[in-house]
Amino acid sequence: MSPCRKCTAECCRYIAQQIDAPRSKEAFEHIRWFLAHKHVSVYIEKRKWYLEFKTDCKYMGPDHTCTIYAKRPQICREHKISECEYHPGAFDHEVVFTTLESFDTYLKKRFPSKKKKRIRRT
Ligand code: SF4
Ligand code: SF4
Repeated sequence: MSPCRKCTAECCRYIAQQIDAPRSKEAFEHIRWFLAHKHVSVYIEKRKWYLEFKTDCKYMGPDHTCTIYAKRPQICREHKISECEYHPGAFDHEVVFTTLESFDTYLKKRFPSKKKKRIRRT
């Protein structure tokens, strides 16, 4: 039996878009801004960065099937069960940020501030 029969169509409940890997302070601040919003996350997969919005497709029916199956977008046609959310190991992002705080923790680890040298007064 196809796993889709038991699933509530997780693959129809988000959109994700690759973004440039941040390299500047401004780019990091943009990601902090993305993560300040509800239903938004950022993840890294195979060294590529993605912005994800959790949002249900308008064409998902009440029984979680596609109501426009014959004219569904190409990206839906290309989606493989072997790469889907329920296939073990297929959806293991290297890093996922769901909150601004989790991204700040990552930034602190990536760019540790240099400890100030104590100056001894004689
Ligand atoms: S492809 Fe995966 S996520 Fe999509 S309906 Fe099937 S089992 Fe669910
Ligand atoms: S168009 Fe159909 S297959 Fe594509 S995301 Fe929407 S409900 Fe799912």
